[in-house]
Amino acid sequence: MSSNSPYILVLDQGTTSSRALVFHMETGQILALAQKEIAQYYPQPGWVEQDADEIWLTQRQVAREALAASRLQARDLRCLGITNQRETVVMWDALTGRPLYPAVVWQCRRSAGLCEELNRDEVWVKEMRARTGLTLDPYFSGTKIAWLMRHLDPSVSPGQQPLRARMEKGEILVGTIDSWLIWNMTEGSRHVTDATNASRTMLFNIQTLAWDDYLLDRLGIPRGTLPEVLRSADDFGESNADFLGCSVPITGVMGDQQAALLGHGCTDPGMIKNTYGTGCFLLANTGRQACFSRYGLLTTVAWRLEEGPCYALEGSVFTVGSVVQWLVQTGLIAVAAESGPLAMSVADTNGVMFVPAFSGLGSPYWDAQTRGMLMGLTSGSGRAHIVRAALEAIAYQNAVLLEAVAADAGFQPRVMLVDGGVAQNDFLMGFQADILNIRVERPPSPEVTAWGAACAAALGSGFLGGVAEGPSLQTPRVFEPAMEEGQRKHLLEKWRNAVACARSWK
Ligand code: ADP
Repeated sequence: MSSNSPYILVLDQGTTSSRALVFHMETGQILALAQKEIAQYYPQPGWVEQDADEIWLTQRQVAREALAASRLQARDLRCLGITNQRETVVMWDALTGRPLYPAVVWQCRRSAGLCEELNRDEVWVKEMRARTGLTLDPYFSGTKIAWLMRHLDPSVSPGQQPLRARMEKGEILVGTIDSWLIWNMTEGSRHVTDATNASRTMLFNIQTLAWDDYLLDRLGIPRGTLPEVLRSADDFGESNADFLGCSVPITGVMGDQQAALLGHGCTDPGMIKNTYGTGCFLLANTGRQACFSRYGLLTTVAWRLEEGPCYALEGSVFTVGSVVQWLVQTGLIAVAAESGPLAMSVADTNGVMFVPAFSGLGSPYWDAQTRGMLMGLTSGSGRAHIVRAALEAIAYQNAVLLEAVAADAGFQPRVMLVDGGVAQNDFLMGFQADILNIRVERPPSPEVTAWGAACAAALGSGFLGGVAEGPSLQTPRVFEPAMEEGQRKHLLEKWRNAVACARSWK
Protein backbone atom coordinates (compact mmCIF):
# COMPACT_ATOMS: atom_id res chain seq x y z
CA MET A 1 0.00 0.00 0.00
CA SER A 2 0.95 3.58 -0.42
CA SER A 3 1.47 4.69 3.18
CA ASN A 4 0.74 8.40 2.82
CA SER A 5 -1.68 8.33 -0.09
CA PRO A 6 -4.98 10.21 0.42
CA TYR A 7 -6.84 8.02 -2.11
CA ILE A 8 -9.41 5.52 -0.93
CA LEU A 9 -11.51 3.22 -3.10
CA VAL A 10 -14.99 2.50 -1.74
CA LEU A 11 -17.13 -0.44 -2.83
CA ASP A 12 -20.80 0.47 -2.38
CA GLN A 13 -22.81 -2.70 -2.90
CA GLY A 14 -26.46 -1.61 -2.84
CA THR A 15 -29.77 -3.39 -3.39
CA THR A 16 -30.16 -2.24 -6.97
CA SER A 17 -26.55 -1.75 -8.08
CA SER A 18 -22.88 -2.33 -7.40
CA ARG A 19 -20.92 0.92 -7.33
CA ALA A 20 -17.33 1.98 -6.74
CA LEU A 21 -15.96 5.44 -5.97
CA VAL A 22 -12.47 6.85 -5.57
CA PHE A 23 -12.21 9.58 -2.91
CA HIS A 24 -9.50 12.09 -2.14
CA MET A 25 -9.68 12.02 1.64
CA GLU A 26 -8.21 15.46 2.29
CA THR A 27 -10.78 17.27 0.17
CA GLY A 28 -13.66 14.81 0.09
CA GLN A 29 -13.56 15.07 -3.70
CA ILE A 30 -14.81 12.14 -5.81
CA LEU A 31 -12.26 11.34 -8.52
CA ALA A 32 -14.28 8.63 -10.24
CA LEU A 33 -17.47 6.64 -9.95
CA ALA A 34 -18.58 3.47 -11.73
CA GLN A 35 -21.91 1.71 -11.36
CA LYS A 36 -23.63 -1.41 -12.66
CA GLU A 37 -27.18 -2.52 -11.96
CA ILE A 38 -27.87 -5.99 -10.63
CA ALA A 39 -30.86 -8.16 -11.45
CA GLN A 40 -33.64 -8.80 -8.94
CA TYR A 41 -35.49 -12.12 -8.93
CA TYR A 42 -38.97 -12.67 -7.52
CA PRO A 43 -39.47 -16.44 -7.72
CA GLN A 44 -42.61 -16.40 -5.54
CA PRO A 45 -44.81 -13.63 -4.11
CA GLY A 46 -42.87 -11.98 -1.29
CA TRP A 47 -39.58 -13.68 -2.20
CA VAL A 48 -36.62 -11.59 -3.38
CA GLU A 49 -33.32 -13.02 -4.59
CA GLN A 50 -30.13 -11.84 -6.28
CA ASP A 51 -27.34 -13.78 -7.96
CA ALA A 52 -24.41 -13.87 -5.49
CA ASP A 53 -21.90 -14.34 -8.31
CA GLU A 54 -23.33 -11.34 -10.15
CA ILE A 55 -22.96 -9.26 -6.97
CA TRP A 56 -19.28 -10.19 -6.72
CA LEU A 57 -18.47 -9.91 -10.44
CA THR A 58 -20.23 -6.54 -10.92
CA GLN A 59 -18.54 -5.23 -7.81
CA ARG A 60 -15.12 -6.31 -9.12
CA GLN A 61 -15.88 -4.81 -12.54
CA VAL A 62 -16.93 -1.39 -11.20
CA ALA A 63 -13.95 -1.30 -8.80
CA ARG A 64 -11.62 -1.78 -11.79
CA GLU A 65 -13.55 0.75 -13.88
CA ALA A 66 -13.51 3.43 -11.16
CA LEU A 67 -9.80 2.94 -10.57
CA ALA A 68 -9.06 3.23 -14.30
CA ALA A 69 -11.27 6.34 -14.60
CA SER A 70 -9.45 7.98 -11.67
CA ARG A 71 -6.15 7.51 -13.56
CA LEU A 72 -4.64 6.00 -10.44
CA GLN A 73 -2.98 2.61 -10.03
CA ALA A 74 -3.85 0.17 -7.26
CA ARG A 75 -0.50 0.97 -5.64
CA ASP A 76 -1.60 4.62 -5.33
CA LEU A 77 -4.50 3.63 -3.09
CA ARG A 78 -4.13 3.85 0.62
CA CYS A 79 -6.86 1.32 1.37
CA LEU A 80 -10.33 0.01 0.50
CA GLY A 81 -13.64 0.59 2.27
CA ILE A 82 -16.89 -1.33 1.86
CA THR A 83 -20.51 -0.36 2.47
CA ASN A 84 -23.33 -2.69 1.59
CA GLN A 85 -27.02 -3.53 1.56
CA ARG A 86 -27.67 -4.97 5.00
CA GLU A 87 -29.33 -8.23 6.15
CA THR A 88 -29.02 -9.92 2.73
CA VAL A 89 -27.32 -13.31 3.14
CA VAL A 90 -25.17 -15.59 1.02
CA MET A 91 -24.29 -19.20 1.85
CA TRP A 92 -21.34 -20.73 0.02
CA ASP A 93 -19.02 -23.72 -0.09
CA ALA A 94 -15.58 -22.72 1.19
CA LEU A 95 -13.94 -25.57 -0.73
CA THR A 96 -15.29 -24.66 -4.15
CA GLY A 97 -16.15 -20.98 -3.61
CA ARG A 98 -19.59 -21.64 -5.11
CA PRO A 99 -22.75 -20.13 -3.59
CA LEU A 100 -25.18 -22.88 -2.56
CA TYR A 101 -28.21 -20.74 -3.28
CA PRO A 102 -29.01 -17.25 -4.59
CA ALA A 103 -28.50 -14.36 -2.18
CA VAL A 104 -31.62 -14.01 -0.02
CA VAL A 105 -32.34 -10.29 -0.08
CA TRP A 106 -33.38 -8.20 2.94
CA GLN A 107 -36.85 -7.59 1.47
CA CYS A 108 -37.50 -11.33 1.16
CA ARG A 109 -40.34 -12.61 3.36
CA ARG A 110 -39.71 -16.36 2.88
CA SER A 111 -38.97 -16.92 6.56
CA ALA A 112 -42.31 -15.46 7.73
CA GLY A 113 -43.51 -18.95 8.76
CA LEU A 114 -40.37 -19.50 10.80
CA CYS A 115 -40.91 -16.15 12.50
CA GLU A 116 -44.45 -17.21 13.39
CA GLU A 117 -43.08 -20.40 14.96
CA LEU A 118 -40.53 -18.44 16.97
CA ASN A 119 -43.13 -15.90 18.00
CA ARG A 120 -44.90 -18.59 20.05
CA ASP A 121 -41.89 -18.72 22.34
CA GLU A 122 -42.45 -15.50 24.28
CA VAL A 123 -39.41 -15.89 26.49
CA TRP A 124 -37.13 -16.34 23.52
CA VAL A 125 -38.60 -13.35 21.71
CA LYS A 126 -38.13 -11.16 24.78
CA GLU A 127 -34.53 -12.34 25.18
CA MET A 128 -33.86 -11.86 21.47
CA ARG A 129 -35.07 -8.26 21.63
CA ALA A 130 -32.95 -7.49 24.68
CA ARG A 131 -29.86 -9.06 23.12
CA THR A 132 -30.15 -7.77 19.54
CA GLY A 133 -32.25 -4.59 19.79
CA LEU A 134 -34.38 -5.90 16.89
CA THR A 135 -37.97 -7.05 16.47
CA LEU A 136 -38.80 -10.54 15.25
CA ASP A 137 -39.17 -10.16 11.49
CA PRO A 138 -38.13 -12.03 8.32
CA TYR A 139 -36.25 -8.83 7.36
CA PHE A 140 -33.24 -9.80 9.50
CA SER A 141 -30.67 -12.40 8.41
CA GLY A 142 -31.09 -14.99 11.20
CA THR A 143 -34.30 -16.63 10.04
CA LYS A 144 -33.16 -16.40 6.41
CA ILE A 145 -30.11 -18.53 7.33
CA ALA A 146 -32.29 -20.96 9.29
CA TRP A 147 -34.61 -21.20 6.25
CA LEU A 148 -31.64 -21.94 3.97
CA MET A 149 -30.46 -24.71 6.31
CA ARG A 150 -33.89 -26.37 6.39
CA HIS A 151 -34.28 -26.02 2.66
CA LEU A 152 -30.81 -27.12 1.56
CA ASP A 153 -30.04 -29.90 3.98
CA PRO A 154 -31.41 -32.83 2.00
CA SER A 155 -29.98 -31.69 -1.30
CA VAL A 156 -26.63 -30.10 -0.63
CA SER A 157 -24.40 -33.07 -0.06
CA PRO A 158 -26.08 -36.32 -0.95
CA GLY A 159 -24.04 -39.18 0.35
CA GLN A 160 -21.87 -36.77 2.29
CA GLN A 161 -22.11 -35.21 5.71
CA PRO A 162 -25.21 -33.23 6.54
CA LEU A 163 -25.07 -29.53 5.90
CA ARG A 164 -24.96 -28.62 9.57
CA ALA A 165 -21.80 -30.66 10.20
CA ARG A 166 -20.09 -29.02 7.26
CA MET A 167 -21.17 -25.60 8.53
CA GLU A 168 -19.76 -26.40 11.97
CA LYS A 169 -16.41 -27.23 10.42
CA GLY A 170 -16.41 -24.02 8.41
CA GLU A 171 -16.65 -25.90 5.09
CA ILE A 172 -19.92 -24.11 4.41
CA LEU A 173 -19.85 -20.41 5.19
CA VAL A 174 -22.58 -17.88 5.57
CA GLY A 175 -22.42 -14.11 5.73
CA THR A 176 -23.83 -10.75 4.75
CA ILE A 177 -22.70 -9.13 1.48
CA ASP A 178 -19.59 -7.54 3.02
CA SER A 179 -18.37 -11.00 4.10
CA TRP A 180 -19.07 -12.50 0.68
CA LEU A 181 -17.13 -9.71 -1.07
CA ILE A 182 -14.16 -9.85 1.32
CA TRP A 183 -13.96 -13.65 1.12
CA ASN A 184 -13.75 -13.35 -2.66
CA MET A 185 -11.38 -10.38 -2.62
CA THR A 186 -9.00 -12.22 -0.30
CA GLU A 187 -9.31 -15.50 -2.23
CA GLY A 188 -10.93 -17.23 0.71
CA SER A 189 -8.35 -16.28 3.29
CA ARG A 190 -10.64 -14.07 5.40
CA HIS A 191 -14.18 -14.75 6.63
CA VAL A 192 -14.99 -11.53 8.47
CA THR A 193 -17.68 -8.90 8.97
CA ASP A 194 -18.05 -5.73 11.04
CA ALA A 195 -20.27 -5.02 14.04
CA THR A 196 -22.77 -2.85 12.11
CA ASN A 197 -23.54 -5.65 9.66
CA ALA A 198 -23.54 -8.28 12.42
CA SER A 199 -26.04 -6.19 14.40
CA ARG A 200 -28.64 -6.74 11.65
CA THR A 201 -28.51 -10.53 11.69
CA MET A 202 -30.60 -11.19 14.84
CA LEU A 203 -27.73 -13.45 15.98
CA PHE A 204 -25.42 -10.80 17.40
CA ASN A 205 -25.51 -9.54 20.96
CA ILE A 206 -25.14 -5.77 20.73
CA GLN A 207 -24.06 -5.48 24.39
CA THR A 208 -21.32 -8.13 24.43
CA LEU A 209 -20.54 -7.44 20.74
CA ALA A 210 -20.29 -11.17 19.98
CA TRP A 211 -22.38 -13.88 18.33
CA ASP A 212 -24.91 -15.05 20.90
CA ASP A 213 -25.12 -18.81 21.57
CA TYR A 214 -28.62 -18.53 23.03
CA LEU A 215 -29.89 -17.13 19.74
CA LEU A 216 -27.77 -19.42 17.55
CA ASP A 217 -28.94 -22.55 19.43
CA ARG A 218 -32.62 -21.78 18.97
CA LEU A 219 -32.15 -21.32 15.24
CA GLY A 220 -29.74 -24.26 14.97
CA ILE A 221 -27.02 -22.17 13.36
CA PRO A 222 -23.46 -23.35 14.14
CA ARG A 223 -20.93 -20.69 15.08
CA GLY A 224 -18.27 -22.18 12.82
CA THR A 225 -20.10 -21.04 9.69
CA LEU A 226 -20.25 -17.38 10.73
CA PRO A 227 -17.63 -14.71 10.05
CA GLU A 228 -15.37 -13.24 12.69
CA VAL A 229 -16.83 -9.90 13.80
CA LEU A 230 -14.33 -7.06 13.63
CA ARG A 231 -14.60 -3.35 14.41
CA SER A 232 -15.92 -1.09 11.62
CA ALA A 233 -12.40 0.29 11.13
CA ASP A 234 -10.07 -2.70 11.35
CA ASP A 235 -7.81 -5.08 9.46
CA PHE A 236 -10.16 -6.99 7.14
CA GLY A 237 -7.29 -8.48 5.13
CA GLU A 238 -5.78 -7.51 1.80
CA SER A 239 -7.40 -7.85 -1.58
CA ASN A 240 -5.42 -10.31 -3.65
CA ALA A 241 -3.31 -8.92 -6.49
CA ASP A 242 -5.73 -10.17 -9.12
CA PHE A 243 -8.51 -7.89 -7.87
CA LEU A 244 -6.94 -4.55 -8.86
CA GLY A 245 -3.38 -5.28 -9.97
CA CYS A 246 -1.69 -5.31 -6.60
CA SER A 247 -2.94 -6.04 -3.11
CA VAL A 248 -4.70 -3.28 -1.18
CA PRO A 249 -5.64 -3.42 2.52
CA ILE A 250 -9.36 -3.46 3.38
CA THR A 251 -9.66 -1.26 6.46
CA GLY A 252 -13.28 -0.13 6.79
CA VAL A 253 -16.64 -1.93 6.55
CA MET A 254 -20.09 -0.59 7.45
CA GLY A 255 -23.71 -1.38 6.63
CA ASP A 256 -25.20 1.29 4.35
CA GLN A 257 -27.44 3.16 6.81
CA GLN A 258 -24.78 3.34 9.49
CA ALA A 259 -22.24 4.48 6.89
CA ALA A 260 -24.63 7.31 5.94
CA LEU A 261 -24.85 8.35 9.62
CA LEU A 262 -21.05 8.58 9.76
CA GLY A 263 -20.86 10.17 6.29
CA HIS A 264 -23.16 12.96 7.45
CA GLY A 265 -20.82 13.55 10.37
CA CYS A 266 -23.48 12.59 12.94
CA THR A 267 -20.79 11.61 15.42
CA ASP A 268 -22.35 13.09 18.57
CA PRO A 269 -25.33 11.80 20.54
CA GLY A 270 -28.54 13.52 19.47
CA MET A 271 -27.49 13.88 15.83
CA ILE A 272 -29.89 12.51 13.23
CA LYS A 273 -29.78 11.56 9.58
CA ASN A 274 -32.58 10.48 7.30
CA THR A 275 -32.09 8.78 3.92
CA TYR A 276 -35.06 9.27 1.56
CA GLY A 277 -34.94 6.48 -0.99
CA THR A 278 -37.55 3.86 -1.86
CA GLY A 279 -38.25 3.96 1.88
CA CYS A 280 -36.89 6.27 4.58
CA PHE A 281 -34.24 5.19 7.08
CA LEU A 282 -33.86 7.53 10.01
CA LEU A 283 -30.95 6.92 12.39
CA ALA A 284 -30.31 8.81 15.62
CA ASN A 285 -26.93 8.63 17.30
CA THR A 286 -27.54 7.71 20.97
CA GLY A 287 -23.88 7.46 22.01
CA ARG A 288 -22.14 4.79 24.07
CA GLN A 289 -25.29 3.33 25.63
CA ALA A 290 -27.70 1.16 23.68
CA CYS A 291 -31.14 2.75 24.01
CA PHE A 292 -34.00 0.23 23.80
CA SER A 293 -37.20 1.47 22.23
CA ARG A 294 -40.70 1.53 23.65
CA TYR A 295 -42.13 2.91 20.40
CA GLY A 296 -41.25 0.36 17.78
CA LEU A 297 -37.79 1.61 16.82
CA LEU A 298 -34.79 -0.69 16.43
CA THR A 299 -31.55 -0.43 18.35
CA THR A 300 -28.46 -0.96 16.30
CA VAL A 301 -24.68 -0.58 16.37
CA ALA A 302 -23.87 2.73 14.64
CA TRP A 303 -20.19 1.78 14.47
CA ARG A 304 -17.62 0.06 16.59
CA LEU A 305 -14.20 1.66 16.81
CA GLU A 306 -11.17 1.12 19.01
CA GLU A 307 -12.62 3.32 21.74
CA GLY A 308 -15.82 1.25 21.85
CA PRO A 309 -19.25 0.98 20.27
CA CYS A 310 -21.59 3.81 19.38
CA TYR A 311 -25.30 2.97 19.15
CA ALA A 312 -28.22 4.32 17.15
CA LEU A 313 -31.99 4.15 17.19
CA GLU A 314 -33.40 3.34 13.77
CA GLY A 315 -36.85 3.85 12.34
CA SER A 316 -38.20 3.35 8.86
CA VAL A 317 -41.04 4.55 6.67
CA PHE A 318 -41.82 1.96 3.99
CA THR A 319 -43.44 4.03 1.23
CA VAL A 320 -41.42 7.07 0.21
CA GLY A 321 -39.82 6.94 -3.26
CA SER A 322 -42.39 4.26 -4.03
CA VAL A 323 -45.26 6.75 -3.64
CA VAL A 324 -43.47 9.16 -6.00
CA GLN A 325 -43.07 6.29 -8.45
CA TRP A 326 -46.77 5.52 -8.06
CA LEU A 327 -47.58 9.14 -8.99
CA VAL A 328 -45.55 8.61 -12.18
CA GLN A 329 -47.06 5.20 -12.86
CA THR A 330 -50.63 6.52 -12.59
CA GLY A 331 -49.81 9.42 -14.91
CA LEU A 332 -50.39 12.14 -12.31
CA ILE A 333 -46.86 13.35 -13.05
CA ALA A 334 -44.52 12.52 -15.93
CA VAL A 335 -41.27 12.33 -13.94
CA ALA A 336 -40.39 12.34 -10.22
CA ALA A 337 -38.83 15.81 -10.40
CA GLU A 338 -42.17 17.29 -11.50
CA SER A 339 -43.73 16.51 -8.12
CA GLY A 340 -42.08 19.38 -6.20
CA PRO A 341 -42.98 22.27 -8.53
CA LEU A 342 -46.51 20.89 -8.96
CA ALA A 343 -47.00 20.67 -5.19
CA MET A 344 -45.76 24.23 -4.85
CA SER A 345 -48.23 25.45 -7.49
CA VAL A 346 -51.03 25.18 -4.90
CA ALA A 347 -51.16 26.75 -1.43
CA ASP A 348 -52.25 23.54 0.30
CA THR A 349 -53.89 20.19 -0.45
CA ASN A 350 -57.37 21.70 -0.36
CA GLY A 351 -58.35 19.17 2.31
CA VAL A 352 -56.96 16.11 0.52
CA MET A 353 -55.13 13.58 2.71
CA PHE A 354 -53.18 10.62 1.40
CA VAL A 355 -52.06 7.70 3.58
CA PRO A 356 -49.74 5.80 1.21
CA ALA A 357 -49.61 2.59 3.22
CA PHE A 358 -49.00 0.52 0.07
CA SER A 359 -47.22 -2.18 2.04
CA GLY A 360 -48.47 -1.47 5.53
CA LEU A 361 -47.08 0.99 8.04
CA GLY A 362 -43.55 0.88 9.53
CA SER A 363 -42.40 2.24 12.89
CA PRO A 364 -44.01 2.88 15.27
CA TYR A 365 -47.07 0.94 14.04
CA TRP A 366 -45.50 -2.22 12.54
CA ASP A 367 -48.82 -2.80 10.86
CA ALA A 368 -48.52 -5.03 7.80
CA GLN A 369 -52.27 -5.16 7.07
CA THR A 370 -53.25 -1.52 6.50
CA ARG A 371 -53.44 -0.34 2.90
CA GLY A 372 -53.31 3.10 1.30
CA MET A 373 -56.16 5.58 1.43
CA LEU A 374 -56.89 8.84 -0.36
CA MET A 375 -59.47 10.96 1.47
CA GLY A 376 -61.04 14.39 1.65
CA LEU A 377 -61.71 14.51 -2.11
CA THR A 378 -64.11 17.09 -3.56
CA SER A 379 -64.85 18.19 -7.10
CA GLY A 380 -62.27 20.91 -6.48
CA SER A 381 -59.47 18.38 -5.90
CA GLY A 382 -56.93 18.51 -8.71
CA ARG A 383 -53.83 16.51 -9.46
CA ALA A 384 -51.61 19.15 -7.81
CA HIS A 385 -53.52 18.63 -4.54
CA ILE A 386 -53.12 14.87 -4.70
CA VAL A 387 -49.42 15.12 -5.55
CA ARG A 388 -48.92 17.59 -2.72
CA ALA A 389 -50.80 15.31 -0.31
CA ALA A 390 -48.52 12.40 -1.31
CA LEU A 391 -45.38 14.44 -0.57
CA GLU A 392 -46.79 15.84 2.66
CA ALA A 393 -47.55 12.29 3.79
CA ILE A 394 -43.84 11.48 3.59
CA ALA A 395 -43.12 14.40 5.90
CA TYR A 396 -45.87 13.45 8.37
CA GLN A 397 -44.62 9.88 8.64
CA ASN A 398 -41.14 11.12 9.44
CA ALA A 399 -42.56 13.49 12.05
CA VAL A 400 -44.15 10.51 13.80
CA LEU A 401 -40.81 8.68 13.64
CA LEU A 402 -38.96 11.59 15.13
CA GLU A 403 -41.50 11.84 17.95
CA ALA A 404 -40.73 8.20 18.76
CA VAL A 405 -36.98 8.92 18.73
CA ALA A 406 -37.43 11.91 21.04
CA ALA A 407 -39.61 9.88 23.44
CA ASP A 408 -37.20 6.92 23.49
CA ALA A 409 -33.89 8.74 23.59
CA GLY A 410 -35.08 11.65 25.71
CA PHE A 411 -33.66 14.36 23.47
CA GLN A 412 -35.16 16.85 21.07
CA PRO A 413 -32.95 17.00 17.98
CA ARG A 414 -32.25 20.44 16.53
CA VAL A 415 -31.28 19.47 13.00
CA MET A 416 -31.84 16.56 10.63
CA LEU A 417 -29.32 15.75 7.88
CA VAL A 418 -30.83 14.27 4.73
CA ASP A 419 -29.80 12.40 1.59
CA GLY A 420 -31.31 10.07 -1.03
CA GLY A 421 -33.24 10.62 -4.27
CA VAL A 422 -36.45 11.95 -2.69
CA ALA A 423 -34.49 14.41 -0.52
CA GLN A 424 -33.67 16.27 -3.75
CA ASN A 425 -37.25 17.56 -3.60
CA ASP A 426 -37.03 21.15 -2.29
CA PHE A 427 -40.75 21.44 -1.57
CA LEU A 428 -40.69 18.28 0.55
CA MET A 429 -37.57 19.30 2.48
CA GLY A 430 -39.07 22.72 3.24
CA PHE A 431 -42.33 21.14 4.37
CA GLN A 432 -40.38 18.56 6.37
CA ALA A 433 -38.57 21.31 8.27
CA ASP A 434 -41.91 23.02 8.91
CA ILE A 435 -43.69 19.95 10.17
CA LEU A 436 -40.76 18.84 12.37
CA ASN A 437 -40.09 22.37 13.49
CA ILE A 438 -36.36 21.74 13.16
CA ARG A 439 -33.74 22.66 10.58
CA VAL A 440 -33.18 20.24 7.69
CA GLU A 441 -29.75 20.19 6.03
CA ARG A 442 -28.96 18.59 2.68
CA PRO A 443 -25.27 18.27 1.72
CA PRO A 444 -24.56 18.91 -1.96
CA SER A 445 -22.89 15.52 -2.50
CA PRO A 446 -25.35 12.66 -2.87
CA GLU A 447 -22.58 10.20 -1.94
CA VAL A 448 -22.93 10.38 1.82
CA THR A 449 -23.05 6.61 2.33
CA ALA A 450 -19.87 5.93 0.36
CA TRP A 451 -18.21 8.84 2.12
CA GLY A 452 -19.02 7.21 5.49
CA ALA A 453 -17.33 4.00 4.34
CA ALA A 454 -14.34 6.04 3.14
CA CYS A 455 -14.11 7.62 6.61
CA ALA A 456 -14.23 4.16 8.25
CA ALA A 457 -11.45 2.94 5.94
CA ALA A 458 -9.44 6.10 6.64
CA LEU A 459 -9.76 5.43 10.36
CA GLY A 460 -8.76 1.79 9.93
CA SER A 461 -5.68 2.73 7.93
CA GLY A 462 -4.60 5.42 10.38
CA PHE A 463 -5.24 8.25 7.90
CA LEU A 464 -7.76 9.72 10.36
CA GLY A 465 -7.27 9.57 14.11
CA GLY A 466 -10.91 9.95 15.18
CA VAL A 467 -14.46 9.98 13.81
CA ALA A 468 -14.80 13.74 14.01
CA GLU A 469 -11.62 14.37 12.00
CA GLY A 470 -12.91 13.85 8.46
CA PRO A 471 -13.19 16.92 6.26
CA SER A 472 -16.77 18.15 6.36
CA LEU A 473 -18.66 17.94 3.09
CA GLN A 474 -19.35 21.21 1.31
CA THR A 475 -21.88 23.72 2.62
CA PRO A 476 -25.32 22.12 2.82
CA ARG A 477 -28.58 23.52 1.56
CA VAL A 478 -30.46 24.57 4.68
CA PHE A 479 -34.25 24.43 5.11
CA GLU A 480 -35.38 26.43 8.15
CA PRO A 481 -38.80 25.80 9.71
CA ALA A 482 -41.22 28.65 9.16
CA MET A 483 -44.67 27.23 9.95
CA GLU A 484 -46.77 28.74 12.66
CA GLU A 485 -47.09 26.36 15.63
CA GLY A 486 -50.91 26.24 15.61
CA GLN A 487 -50.93 25.26 11.95
CA ARG A 488 -48.27 22.57 12.51
CA LYS A 489 -50.25 21.00 15.34
CA HIS A 490 -53.45 21.15 13.31
CA LEU A 491 -51.88 19.37 10.33
CA LEU A 492 -50.29 16.67 12.49
CA GLU A 493 -53.63 16.09 14.19
CA LYS A 494 -55.30 15.70 10.79
CA TRP A 495 -52.61 13.22 9.78
CA ARG A 496 -53.14 11.10 12.90
CA ASN A 497 -56.82 11.12 12.17
CA ALA A 498 -56.18 10.04 8.57
CA VAL A 499 -53.95 7.16 9.72
CA ALA A 500 -56.61 6.05 12.18
CA CYS A 501 -59.19 6.06 9.35
CA ALA A 502 -56.93 4.02 7.08
CA ARG A 503 -56.21 1.54 9.86
CA SER A 504 -59.88 1.08 10.71
CA TRP A 505 -60.88 0.42 7.10
CA LYS A 506 -61.35 -3.27 6.43
P1 ADP B 1 -32.94 3.77 -3.55
O1 ADP B 1 -31.53 3.95 -3.07
O2 ADP B 1 -33.89 3.25 -2.52
O3 ADP B 1 -33.04 3.06 -4.86
P2 ADP B 1 -32.73 6.57 -4.34
O4 ADP B 1 -32.10 7.28 -3.19
O5 ADP B 1 -31.91 6.30 -5.53
O6 ADP B 1 -33.48 5.25 -3.83
O7 ADP B 1 -34.01 7.43 -4.74
C1 ADP B 1 -34.82 7.02 -5.81
C2 ADP B 1 -36.23 7.56 -5.60
O8 ADP B 1 -36.18 8.98 -5.58
C3 ADP B 1 -37.17 7.17 -6.71
O9 ADP B 1 -38.31 6.58 -6.12
C4 ADP B 1 -37.56 8.49 -7.37
O10 ADP B 1 -38.90 8.45 -7.76
C5 ADP B 1 -37.32 9.48 -6.26
N1 ADP B 1 -36.99 10.84 -6.71
C6 ADP B 1 -35.95 11.24 -7.48
N2 ADP B 1 -35.97 12.58 -7.66
C7 ADP B 1 -37.05 13.05 -6.98
C8 ADP B 1 -37.62 14.34 -6.76
N3 ADP B 1 -37.10 15.45 -7.29
N4 ADP B 1 -38.75 14.41 -6.00
C9 ADP B 1 -39.30 13.32 -5.46
N5 ADP B 1 -38.79 12.08 -5.62
C10 ADP B 1 -37.69 11.94 -6.37
